[in-house]
Amino acid sequence: MRDGIQDIYLRLDAFYSLDDWWHSESKLEVILGSILTQNTNWKNVERSILNIKSVRAMSINKLIKMDAPSIKSLILPSGFYNQKTNTIKGILIAIKNRYGTINNMSKMSTKELHEFLLNLKGIGNETADSILLYAFNKPVFVIDAYTKRIISRIYNINQKIRYEDLQDIFMTSLRRDPKFYKRMHAYFIELAKSNCIKNNPKCNSCVLNAICNYANLQKNNVR
Ligand code: SF4
Repeated sequence: MRDGIQDIYLRLDAFYSLDDWWHSESKLEVILGSILTQNTNWKNVERSILNIKSVRAMSINKLIKMDAPSIKSLILPSGFYNQKTNTIKGILIAIKNRYGTINNMSKMSTKELHEFLLNLKGIGNETADSILLYAFNKPVFVIDAYTKRIISRIYNINQKIRYEDLQDIFMTSLRRDPKFYKRMHAYFIELAKSNCIKNNPKCNSCVLNAICNYANLQKNNVR
């Protein structure tokens, strides 16, 4: 599978002209976005981020001081607002106590930040790694549901493959560079929306058609 990941990257890279899909104005915005995106779509995250900006609350100190009902009302569009309010409060207070500022976190090692984030309530692997890659530009590949779906179809493997195992395959196959990881992630998001959709994927027009087990099985079933 390791050789194949490089091949997948090259095929997608020849087809798409994407780079970093996540255009944020600050590290705090990325941290909030990584939490708000849990179990919802990106449009809802954007609405919540806009709400926070509209009351000029995109500041760690302001959000820490803000009471929970006010935060809930701002992040309402993202759903699960009780849980997400607690996670946001928890991470911001922990950052303030341990590092003082978000900028100070940038000087820390990937290992230190990874352990810090995973010890916080409401932060799992995907959220922690999104923060590491997109807020702090650390070389950590993010595994999301799109990645799992695409890879499980290409290699005919169970989507329940462990997060760490799949991540290890990507990180030992691709150059250890946040730029490549962001690009590959952007390609997968694009592919999962355009072709490798949840039901009835559009394999005929997919750039990975020739190397995909799922597509081959479909072709054989038609014959
Ligand atoms: S060929 Fe089909 S199943 Fe395979 S990655 Fe493309 S859209 Fe998904």
